[in-house]
Amino acid sequence: MMADLHDLYQEVIVDHGRRPRNFGPLPGANHRAEGFNPLCGDHLTLQLQVVDGVIRDARFEGAGCAISTASASLMTEALKGRGTSDAEALFASFHAMLTGERQAADAALGKLEVLAGVREFPTRIKCATLAWHTLLAALREECRPVTTE
Ligand code: ZN
Repeated sequence: MMADLHDLYQEVIVDHGRRPRNFGPLPGANHRAEGFNPLCGDHLTLQLQVVDGVIRDARFEGAGCAISTASASLMTEALKGRGTSDAEALFASFHAMLTGERQAADAALGKLEVLAGVREFPTRIKCATLAWHTLLAALREECRPVTTE
């Protein structure tokens, strides 16, 4: 059973890595940040449209490995319609999942659970968290590029 679940998770990651959702420019974006992961060469730009404290739309552009692309794709899906403080709480849950600070399942993560297996590959954790660190920078409207280092 665990192997089947693992295969399913793997399929979702491969699918989002090959056909990322919400990929491209976002006209009308009012929050923007750029992120780099020099360890792997991942680079992305995240754009958000935030209205009355709610993320109405989120799109990203850039180039990276399958894990970073899939993570950004899944993240943008999860962000739409979410309040900004809720989005920051989701970052905390996601980060805790990948750093192993949390063992039990966290219902708030939903589909993002597919990336849980990344924690077994420490060199790839920064690939999976890049989009999320970029999200925090975008929410705070920081204009300078962020880095996972
Ligand atoms: Zn990567």
